Amino acid sequence: MIAPILPGAVLGVLGGGQLGRMFTLAARRMGYRVTVFAPDDDTPAGQIAYREIRASYDDLDAVGRFAREVAAVTFEFENVPAATAEAAARHAPVRPAGSLLHTTQDRAREKRALAAHGLPTTAFAEIVSADDLSPAAARTGLPAVLKTSAWGYDGKGQRRVASLDALADAWRALGEAPAVLERLVSFAAELSVVGTRGADGEIALYEPVLNRHRDHVLDISLCPAPVEARVRADALSLARDVLETFDVVGVLCVELFLLADGTLLVNELAPRPHNSGHVTLDAHVTSQFEQQVRALCGLPLGSTARTVPAAATANLLGDLWTPGAPDWARALADPGVRLHLYGKDEARPGRKMGHLTVAADTLADAERRALAARASVVAPPEDGTWTSA
Ligand code: AMP
Repeated sequence: MIAPILPGAVLGVLGGGQLGRMFTLAARRMGYRVTVFAPDDDTPAGQIAYREIRASYDDLDAVGRFAREVAAVTFEFENVPAATAEAAARHAPVRPAGSLLHTTQDRAREKRALAAHGLPTTAFAEIVSADDLSPAAARTGLPAVLKTSAWGYDGKGQRRVASLDALADAWRALGEAPAVLERLVSFAAELSVVGTRGADGEIALYEPVLNRHRDHVLDISLCPAPVEARVRADALSLARDVLETFDVVGVLCVELFLLADGTLLVNELAPRPHNSGHVTLDAHVTSQFEQQVRALCGLPLGSTARTVPAAATANLLGDLWTPGAPDWARALADPGVRLHLYGKDEARPGRKMGHLTVAADTLADAERRALAARASVVAPPEDGTWTSA
């Protein structure tokens, strides 16, 4: 058993976004200091950190200097290059390991690894040249979803295709980059399970969350997912399998498709805290970010028990700013609303600016109030035609 890294130590995080910010908040509460390494400054995480290093992920000398100054390194962004994680690992433990990052940052590699371990995925085929298009479509059937292998998240680099011609056009439009073709799944619901595995193999899973997307971006998460006990148990067992199979040390989210017959398919893995796990900040004994700190430091994991009957989290995207600065006082008029803003100055449409969570006695009430609070912040038009959403 390796000695745990105790409060007072400096932890390093690669990436400066909101996930790094919430990790940093959790770490600071527990008495750690955090150094953030990111290619920008005044990042959401850097604003909270003890130190912010601005350098490119490709600047391996800077990565080495950063890692020498911290007790352990984690990441909040899975597109950190594998060489960066390796350079850091020469000086400090990197958790989860860079090899997991390498697997999950490429859709084709991730799907191959899942399939190789017998974990259920959508039918898929890899496309690296134009010759692969027709056999790929024959394998998955049409309609299907074409996704670039690299840099894919929140539906970026994705096209739905219903014919071979459309597939060829879509692949050209994606720059003929290596891609994965997946059968279009007619799912009953999307679920996710966030889990943590400690350095000693201890596993702590949060119950499944139900996710609704809008334009491929997570919109609302409902906790607990209103699913049958058998689906819940299957989802938890799948997540456990993934954490063990990939020898994860840290937090990982398994995104799942639930089919009408109760079958679960793994859509994607995220080797870090996940947007759908933000609900744990306000509805569970230990948040996913505190679990990340604990796993990184080799401490025992916290309880994943829910502290409220039900909770709903609504994402706050940059689009909310389009009519003008949101009026947060309106959202907070419901005293049960917990507001989280990520400290981003520029609100672009689709950009994740924050989220809010409402805990309630029922899922329906939590959802209704979260949606109402979000809708309320948009300023009414000046002609007075606006009525409450
Ligand atoms: P991803 O970036 O792969 O997580 O995809 C973003 C969202 O697109 C998912 O959460 C689904 O809502 C939708 N999606 C992705 N792949 C498929 C698929 N094979 N069938 C149906 N919907 C999909």
